Amino acid sequence: MAYRNFSTTQLQEMDNAHHLHPFTDHAGLRGEGVRVVTGAEGAYIFDSEGKRILDGMAGLWCVNVGYGREELAKAAYEQMKELAYYNTFFKSTTAPAAMLAKRIADLAPTNFNQVFFGASGSESNDTSIRTVRYYWQLQGKPEKHIIISRDNAYHGSTIAATSMGGMGAMHGQLGPMLPGFRHVMCPYDFELKHKGESLEDFGIRAARAVEVAILQEGAENVAAFVGEPIQGAGGVKIPPPTYWPEIQRICKKYDILLMLDEVITAFGRTGAWFAAESMSIEADMITVAKAITSGYQPLSAVLVSDRVADVISKGGEYYHGYTYSGHPVTCAVALENIDIIEREGLIERVRDDTGPYLLERLQEVIGDHPLVGEVRGMGLLAAIEIVKDRETGERFPNEGSAAVCVRDHSIEAGMMMRAVGDTMILSPPLIWTRETIDEAAAICKVALDKAAADLL
Ligand code: PLP
Repeated sequence: MAYRNFSTTQLQEMDNAHHLHPFTDHAGLRGEGVRVVTGAEGAYIFDSEGKRILDGMAGLWCVNVGYGREELAKAAYEQMKELAYYNTFFKSTTAPAAMLAKRIADLAPTNFNQVFFGASGSESNDTSIRTVRYYWQLQGKPEKHIIISRDNAYHGSTIAATSMGGMGAMHGQLGPMLPGFRHVMCPYDFELKHKGESLEDFGIRAARAVEVAILQEGAENVAAFVGEPIQGAGGVKIPPPTYWPEIQRICKKYDILLMLDEVITAFGRTGAWFAAESMSIEADMITVAKAITSGYQPLSAVLVSDRVADVISKGGEYYHGYTYSGHPVTCAVALENIDIIEREGLIERVRDDTGPYLLERLQEVIGDHPLVGEVRGMGLLAAIEIVKDRETGERFPNEGSAAVCVRDHSIEAGMMMRAVGDTMILSPPLIWTRETIDEAAAICKVALDKAAADLL
């Protein structure tokens, strides 16, 4: 590849001069110099300086089958040779698109039998928003258009997905959000244990905030409630067990559709194909992306329940679609990726072995570290709360700076973690073994010890 002829400095110079990065403070980046990632194998990435780093984030929550899978490269190559592109508009389909739609419908909860493809999670959330609004229009209730979401939710970066999301910092940079979205409280509060309310009561209270919003807006105006089963980019916020059943009761009572954003949680992350299954949530729409191809190709999908699909498919032409809806190469890769997950029993392994072990091992190795206020997780998804005082839960001043310090030490010690506010995140490839988890926990300990020496 041509890039091999360039030095790290040359690549950094090109990048600095011309590349605007997502979610990046460019002044800070230009001061530090960007890391050039040049290769990856299994659970590890390599940078241009030859540093080998355990990838605790599976890229960006997506590389579930790990790096360097020849089967996936081969699937893309074979499909590109045979049919590199054709659209799925105008009464056409391709074999990979048809086969993947069926494969997903077979894996999904039984009330899901229709799939609409996109190229990113943001795009598919837009599809989901449009589809629920269209559904109510076809039902003769066009006034039912408001979507209730939660503070701290991340649903993507397009204007609609940002408006539906609940990230204050993103809203703050945009001027008026799109109308028709309402936000209620986030379903998790780490500081709860210092406030005296039980987790169960908090779960009910957080769900009832949705009911309050429905009553204020008028149920006749509310189309849907949307939520990530576990808020991912918001800090791996796992709602109490009382939350989703109560949400479900409320949605049924007021005839509100339930949209799940499983862009992070689908395809094995929580120890099931879908978190809807592991958390017993009955949804009407499910958005997936990322691990559908393990990030090897950009593909997303909206799973549309029979309730919604039956109405949409009788409504005449639905004026909605993307050039890359059902792109044959991405679908061929997804089919092979799903085969790998199945063949290697990755989901069962997460559910029965590595998921519980990750939490157990982190608790053992860093659970009582002076900087750690809480370790929580589900499947191969974990969070570590960084605090100044573990007895009171007091944070360090300058929100986020302590977690960034831990993250930088972690990368230095050989593992990629993410810092979200004062929370450290792990969302590794599902191929992690007990040995990889031992290695990760040991690196976390080194990073925390070094951060403690800097911070305390
Ligand atoms: N929804 C959730 C829950 C996500 O975590 C993300 C991305 O991290 C998105 C949607 C947006 O996906 P994309 O970045 O592919 O547009």
